[in-house]
Amino acid sequence: MTKLISALTAELAHDPSKALFQDAQTGRWVNRGQVEEDVARLKQRLVDNHIGKGDRVLIALDNSIFYPVLMQVIWELGAIAMPIANTTPQAELQNEINTNHYAAIFVQEKAVTWLTQQTDLQKNYIALNTIEEITFLLNPRAQAAHKTAKREVIEEDDLALILHTSGTTGKPKSVGLTHRLLYNGARHDRDSHQMTAQDTTLILMPMFHVNAQVMSLLQMRLAGGKVVIAKKFSASHFWQQVAGGKVTWVSVVPTIISILMLNSQAMAQYQEYKQRIHLRFLRSSSFALPLKKLTDFQKQFHTQILEGYGMTETASQCTINPLTAPKVGSAGKPFATELKIMTDSQTQTAPNVVGEIAVRGDHVIADYLESHPDSFKDGWFLTGDLGYLDEDGYLFVKGRKKEMINRGGEKVAPAKVENVLNELPFIAQAAVIGLPDDLYGEEVTAVVILKASQYSARLAREEITLYTKHRLAGFERPTKIIFVDQFPLNTTGKVVRPKLREQLLIAGVGGK
Ligand code: ATP
Ligand code: MG
Repeated sequence: MTKLISALTAELAHDPSKALFQDAQTGRWVNRGQVEEDVARLKQRLVDNHIGKGDRVLIALDNSIFYPVLMQVIWELGAIAMPIANTTPQAELQNEINTNHYAAIFVQEKAVTWLTQQTDLQKNYIALNTIEEITFLLNPRAQAAHKTAKREVIEEDDLALILHTSGTTGKPKSVGLTHRLLYNGARHDRDSHQMTAQDTTLILMPMFHVNAQVMSLLQMRLAGGKVVIAKKFSASHFWQQVAGGKVTWVSVVPTIISILMLNSQAMAQYQEYKQRIHLRFLRSSSFALPLKKLTDFQKQFHTQILEGYGMTETASQCTINPLTAPKVGSAGKPFATELKIMTDSQTQTAPNVVGEIAVRGDHVIADYLESHPDSFKDGWFLTGDLGYLDEDGYLFVKGRKKEMINRGGEKVAPAKVENVLNELPFIAQAAVIGLPDDLYGEEVTAVVILKASQYSARLAREEITLYTKHRLAGFERPTKIIFVDQFPLNTTGKVVRPKLREQLLIAGVGGK
């Protein structure tokens, strides 16, 4: 048995009447005993159908309190969970099932019916405490292969979870997380936040990403705390869910912070519930949180924001602001991770010098499933992110290597320009990209979403030009400003800059 399985089973066995998961929509709680019962029953059903060690299980479900039950069952069996987007189109789902060998498949009800018509998968269903009834699909070929197999021991280095990176810089990469990596990642998250059994989190991010899986769910399971699970983020329900579930902290992304400040229903609800809100902090990561948003939010909602830095490949976070000494604008300090800055393939020892962030630790993968040897050097994982450590050892993330704009040889980090643009009160969100330019190769282009009809584009353009003159070096200033209504976002809420660039070029607004 691995440390991960031991921790999860021990938690359920201890104090079975203690509440564990709450459905944020209905407010219904299930306790540890009910979850333990569900895990045992579903596990037995899968064992009866010859599912065991090394089998792959595909999951394309909405977030729900059943999701963590399924994860635990898969790990106890030594099987491998492969969660994908609940919104995956049917044709893509079918292609995934046809090309990969899944022993069991858990998808939304609609897709179950459709898939059984298209394939020879067999339907099976079970009623549980956490879910009224779940129908899933079994692959008869995979089962046949297991009928004669002996029961095998589950090892720390066995694969437990396959996740995909967000695909912000290109095609998503497959990351294989073992029992060891998951346990260490979640354990470090818990210790760095000083999480205890008295804490409760609210999951808003999709369960097919590392953020919800490890940062929120596993961290709380290892702390013995409680977990409220929402189908997805809703600005008009956020404060009610936080108050109703007695939530003490939430893992969010900067988009959620922005929306909460812009949404009038959210603001009214905060006033209604504020006496019942007991948040210790909101933890933000995934992309840079503009400084002004952080400080405005803290003032408006009297809630501390702690910024951290992590990625799928490190099974959760590498740095986090210490609770007692957070530094605004920084992603915090390494906790259980070795972190260094590399410039020209050399380790940078001087503070405040920007280079590529490299990490090492017992929660960091040794390679991707499809193998990308260029990302690994002498036991270090080269993150592709740019940043520096200040003299106190705090990390400042400055963007990504791949996204640097090359303006006539001068390198411009989009995040730096975006941070300045986001200080302007009439801008809802800004993204900075490089567009082709005959003279400089690339020109710095600001793509801007204005706050609802407050400003004319002409006025906004003038103000942006004036403001960036004071705040940025000549080569960093946007020479082109484009107004749009929305950005192409991935499922984590990040702006997919390569896609935005492509859209603008296709629309013909990109060239000179
Ligand atoms: P892909 O690797 O497919 O391009 P992705 O890197 O966005 O996608 P994730 O693993 O979900 O996929 O995200 C991790 C990345 O998010 C980090 O490498 C970093 O670029 C960014 N990130 C995380 N936290 C922060 C932060 N606090 N500030 C700025 N960027 C951050
Ligand atoms: Mg990445």
